[in-house]
Amino acid sequence: MSGFSFNLLKITDPSRFRLGQLIFSRNKQEKILDTPNCFVYTMRGSVPHLTPDNLQIIPVDSLGITLEHFLEAQPPTSTHFMGGIHKFLNLEDYLLFFDVRDSSKLLHISFNTDKYVSVVTNQGCRKVTVEEYVRYMNIYNPDIFASISDLITDKNPSLKRVKKSVDRTLNWLDETLEQIKEGIHVFGVVTGHDKHEERVRSAQETANRNVAGFVLNGFDLDVTSKERLDLMKISLKHLPKNKPRVAYGLGAPEYVLLGIFEGIDIFDASYPSEQTSLGHALTFLLLENGIQNEQEKFIDLWDNKYRTDFRPILNGCKCYACQNHTRAYIFHLLVAHEMLATVLLMSHNLFHYLQFFKDIRKSINNNTFTNNAMQFIRASNITDEIDIKPNFNYRNY
Ligand SMILES: [Zn+2]
Repeated sequence: MSGFSFNLLKITDPSRFRLGQLIFSRNKQEKILDTPNCFVYTMRGSVPHLTPDNLQIIPVDSLGITLEHFLEAQPPTSTHFMGGIHKFLNLEDYLLFFDVRDSSKLLHISFNTDKYVSVVTNQGCRKVTVEEYVRYMNIYNPDIFASISDLITDKNPSLKRVKKSVDRTLNWLDETLEQIKEGIHVFGVVTGHDKHEERVRSAQETANRNVAGFVLNGFDLDVTSKERLDLMKISLKHLPKNKPRVAYGLGAPEYVLLGIFEGIDIFDASYPSEQTSLGHALTFLLLENGIQNEQEKFIDLWDNKYRTDFRPILNGCKCYACQNHTRAYIFHLLVAHEMLATVLLMSHNLFHYLQFFKDIRKSINNNTFTNNAMQFIRASNITDEIDIKPNFNYRNY
């Protein structure tokens, strides 16, 4: 495919976690997204709390954009702009990944038919057909988008309903691949809800199509991250190694690590903005003795004890907030309900989250990932639920 490829640089044997590069063209230049990595979360095309010029001092490479944030009018007014979605959002240097729905919202309406899916907007529900979605994508011209999937939000759907969901999702993928113009890359959505055989069928059938990668869509499931990951594992075994895999709903650092152990390359990243909204500043590190317990993952800057704490959020952090401000000042801004509080917090949290992925890649590269990640997961109190074999052999490509 032109302007887009995925290079697998390193993989463990037996095959579990991987180091790779997504290579894409933007403004006639080759850009690289190193994996494991994340698509930074946006609301209406903007990273929460930050302006595009704030973003330039954070090493962001890729963003996830959601159609439902643009669907107040139908067709969205942004589709009348013919310069493409990168230019419309002033995000011309970034890899933009599109999906229909917001992966951070776990509750969705699920009134779908063979012809359309329903999505939620500020102005109420909207129906989107495959034809409309592909037409919007052909106008927006994102780098990658996920095909439409028939999400189920029923807690215990029948096998018949799950089969129908897999069939619809595959049919919609076929229609999408027929109608999309060259140069926009489609990731197929792997579904199958909680039915083992349907997850296998969905993975195998999607892998038979000419897709550029896969999305493991667990956000229709009202389950814990651990249960979601267990279901994704069934699908992952049936996906080819040479294409990237994106997973939704595993944003907390310990689940990022567990997801990487299972071969996931890219995560949806609403975690930094969610933590920012709570007044939390991220402090976890992927190092030997990086965290000793769950409480060390963040500090709560609403806590009165930071009133006279004149240290940066995190010693050694190179972000703008840590280089120029103190915990006490951010506490003061939070208590005064000043908007700059969340701007500074988000600057740190996003920088820190991206640094975490950088440390993961470094750690896979120098073969310390297994030990560091296992220690982190143990400290997060989910050890009894995990199955990690510590002895991997690495293969370089
Ligand atoms: Zn910082």
